[in-house]
Amino acid sequence: MCCIVAYVVQREAYPILIYGLKRLEYRGYDSSGLSLLNGKLREFKRKGKVQDLVNFVKGKNVSGSMGIAHTRWATHGKPDDINAHPHQSGNGRLTLIHNGIIENYAALKTALLQEGHVFQSETDTEVLVHLIEELQTRSNLPLEEAVRVALTKVIGAYAIVVMDERDPGKLVAARKASPLVIGIGDGEFFLASDATPIVEHTQKVVYLNDEEIAVVTRDGELQIKDIGNEIKMPYIQQLDLKIESLGKGDYEHFMLKEIYEQPNTIADCMRGRINAAEGWIKLGGVDQVQERIAQSKRFIMAACGTSWHAALIGEYLFEELARIPVEVEYASELRYRNPIIDREDVVVALSQSGETADTMAALELAKEKGALIYGIVNNVGSSIARLTDAGSYIHAGPEIGVASTKAFTGQVTLLTMMAISLGYQRGTIPKSYYFQLLEELERIPGKVAKVLESDTQIRYIASEIKDANNALYLGRGYNFPIALEGALKLKEISYIHAEGYPAAEMKHGPIALIDENMPVVVIATNKSAYEKVVSNIQEVKARKGIVIAIVTEGDKIISSLADYSIAIPDTDEPLTPLLSVIPLQLLSYHIALMRGCNVDQPRNLAKSVTVE
Ligand code: GLU
Repeated sequence: MCCIVAYVVQREAYPILIYGLKRLEYRGYDSSGLSLLNGKLREFKRKGKVQDLVNFVKGKNVSGSMGIAHTRWATHGKPDDINAHPHQSGNGRLTLIHNGIIENYAALKTALLQEGHVFQSETDTEVLVHLIEELQTRSNLPLEEAVRVALTKVIGAYAIVVMDERDPGKLVAARKASPLVIGIGDGEFFLASDATPIVEHTQKVVYLNDEEIAVVTRDGELQIKDIGNEIKMPYIQQLDLKIESLGKGDYEHFMLKEIYEQPNTIADCMRGRINAAEGWIKLGGVDQVQERIAQSKRFIMAACGTSWHAALIGEYLFEELARIPVEVEYASELRYRNPIIDREDVVVALSQSGETADTMAALELAKEKGALIYGIVNNVGSSIARLTDAGSYIHAGPEIGVASTKAFTGQVTLLTMMAISLGYQRGTIPKSYYFQLLEELERIPGKVAKVLESDTQIRYIASEIKDANNALYLGRGYNFPIALEGALKLKEISYIHAEGYPAAEMKHGPIALIDENMPVVVIATNKSAYEKVVSNIQEVKARKGIVIAIVTEGDKIISSLADYSIAIPDTDEPLTPLLSVIPLQLLSYHIALMRGCNVDQPRNLAKSVTVE
């Protein structure tokens, strides 16, 4: 979740570290800290945002060409100055940053307390630095060896970087189940949780693999070993990331920028992959494993959060268009319930970051059981992308706003292309419908741009309902997952309690909540269940609920019933989610803003959930 960033040699480390922390702050932001080495170790830590750390450090000595820095997303111990990373060894010699969770920290801590170690913080992380110190001093081990032996005793997830005052020529880093990238500059190294702070300095990177330990030295050397002590050859890759894509541009928030980018990101996701005039869809990943997919008896989609909602749309798409049975699973549940998975299954993992811990673990389990594992991720080179047998990137570019928007529509676009293509290959959709869907898909980016023109109207509706304490989102068919997604967006960033329901389920419970204070957002586009949704709206109005309806352009019936209605262009039903989600993203954005919430960094959340 949090991020780590470290720098070794050539220039002053401090500005590089702060720049890195700011780039990575979206991954975790309850406190931050850094250590610099210039003969002596100096450490600065602060609760709050990176800017609070910068203010705190002002006027102090921040010299040093080596350093490590961290923004935290607390798992063990409250967010405060003391629990912030880095953490020091008892002898003050070592300093360490960590992303992840040390699950057996309690047992390790008990043993270390018996050896006389004194702990300063409540974190699980601190045991690591004491353990390394213990091994280093007791057995007189070099730093990297002490780190390696320490990690053989650890259960859990980690990306760490350690610096040693008495061994100032190197940084030692390691990872397991939490990401770590090493940027290779000209006689200098950059280490970070993802490539966003690195791209400014170099395009050459090495992604560390699980249970690997890297040593980067002042002499410009990089050595990698695994925790079994076997030497590994670093695999150097070129980054495909543009520095301009990391800024906010002219937008006030990343989330707004990312909402507005969607006509382009959806087009980018389709670029080179479909051609309606020639009638083809080409997904490199699918082609690679075509035979296995053809033999499969079902798909299982595993994901968390917003990606899980995209997966649910995937179920509707695959079952309707390709007649392939699909099960959608929360990755965190799938991994722990001994699921029935075998060689005839295809397990598709969806994750924006490609680092989601639960999704990774579910995939590993599916791989063990012999299933074909397929990744749909945004972050190029991420752990899921590297673990899977095949996969497709959604090409949405870096998504920085914590609440996912463009990655969601990218995932849905990708799943739509897959379902149409499989449907055509399997003969479950007629040729004419196949062509119709391809042509309509190509029109979607333009239609999304059209929906964005309703922004002013949506802002007005937001101002009318912003003080609500609860909200209900209803939809049927393809719009049911959109109801879930709309509700999630609202609670994530505005802290209004919101629930999404299949519209017909309302009468089995949530209807009891409806009164004149309850906004009910109904996604009521004009396809199969239209009349049923009209009845559901009547039921809400009969109980004085405030109805905000997402309707198809030209709709008169619902527009006359609803308190507010937002029109979206007509489209084929399977493509509706790509349009109907857009007004809900904007609605949440404006409500959150009007309530004074931090839209890009909502409380308690983090962008990339690398802990279970
Ligand atoms: N588990 C560690 C802590 O609570 C690290 C959390 C993180 O990844 O930021 O301090």
